[in-house]
Amino acid sequence: MRPFSYARARTEQDAFSTLAQTARGAYLAGGTNLIDLIKLEVAKPDAVIDINALPLAAIETTPSGELRIGALARMSDTADHPALRSAAPAISQALNLSASAQLRNMATIGGNVLQRTRCVYFRDISQPCNKRRPGSGCSAIGGDDRKMAILGANDRCIAVHPSDFAVAMLLVDATIHLRGPAGERTVPFLGFHRLPDDPSRDTNIQPGELITALTFMPSALTRSSTYIKVRDRASYEFALVSVAAALEVTGGTIRDARIGLGGVAHAPWRSREAEAVLIGKVPSRDLFTAAAEAGLQAAVPQRLNRFKIRMAKNAMIRALTSVGMPA
Ligand SMILES: Cc1cc2nc3c(=O)[nH]c(=O)nc-3n(C[C@H](O)[C@H](O)[C@H](O)COP(=O)(O)OP(=O)(O)OC[C@H]3O[C@@H](n4cnc5c(N)ncnc54)[C@H](O)[C@@H]3O)c2cc1C
Ligand code: SF4
Repeated sequence: MRPFSYARARTEQDAFSTLAQTARGAYLAGGTNLIDLIKLEVAKPDAVIDINALPLAAIETTPSGELRIGALARMSDTADHPALRSAAPAISQALNLSASAQLRNMATIGGNVLQRTRCVYFRDISQPCNKRRPGSGCSAIGGDDRKMAILGANDRCIAVHPSDFAVAMLLVDATIHLRGPAGERTVPFLGFHRLPDDPSRDTNIQPGELITALTFMPSALTRSSTYIKVRDRASYEFALVSVAAALEVTGGTIRDARIGLGGVAHAPWRSREAEAVLIGKVPSRDLFTAAAEAGLQAAVPQRLNRFKIRMAKNAMIRALTSVGMPA
């Protein structure tokens, strides 16, 4: 492990100015991803700026009725928050199906959204990897590609985004609040994570920016949501595939639908194709099967992961059945 300096920021301005004085400084939240990557020498910051003292951990309902999740809210506090559980059960479920209880107690929402891929070649500095070293190649192509992408990949990178929470956040039309040396801005959650046109960039965050919060307006759609995660073992494991689904059914007809897929692409993947099949129709097993077919129509498997296509379809049918035709 390489030496780095450590500073604890007392204010956001303090964090920005301390970072600006470094060549390769990094913000530290729960540290469950960053410290891991420093130990592996994948991340090589010369300075770590601890942001845990900033007042960004609140989870609250705003006067306008939005739910606001502070970037430093712990995954466990967020998962178990009663307002969030009823506003969007899928988000709560996705968090509770993530990592382990100890990790969820430490890890934050901002860090979760910004966590890096679990691609084994990215985490092994002896292997070429375009994400870690642009232009060096992609070791996963032709290598162990079982857990890799089936949607939106290219010949530069076939890695998948690892966060469960981020997939569920696709259902709620969330907004990300950012603050940096140049001021404040908000961006839609959808589109914040990038496809691998430039694999070295996972998201559209700008240098020095902090995520301060995520917000969304609860609705009939978000309240009727669920998250299904399929993985190699029943706990403490990342998704092979996952599906977040929300349906608003009124008078026996689907008025609105949102589908998010995880474990399938470089970014959390919203399936507008599946949504289009559902909206305006009467819920049925056949309809959900048709939506799953449409959602995975563009899938291109890697050498070892054709199974993911069927797995994702089945998970989508299960998720839709659970919200659209509850027993
Ligand atoms: C064994 C293991 C199993 C796991 N399983 C799962 C799983 O099943 N599902 C899942 O979703 N996740 C899983 N995780 C990942 C875990 O959820 C993330 O490591 C965690 O959410 C990261 O949050 P953190 O606060 O620890 O981030 P940190 O490690 O502190 O930071 C991560 C990155 O985000 C940056 N950062 C953090 N906060 C901010 C902010 N507010 N503004 C700007 N930049 C910021 C840091 O600089 C760093 O680059 C697992 C992790 C481990 C180690
Ligand atoms: S899939 Fe992406 S992260 Fe993995 S080795 Fe290839 S370029 Fe690197």
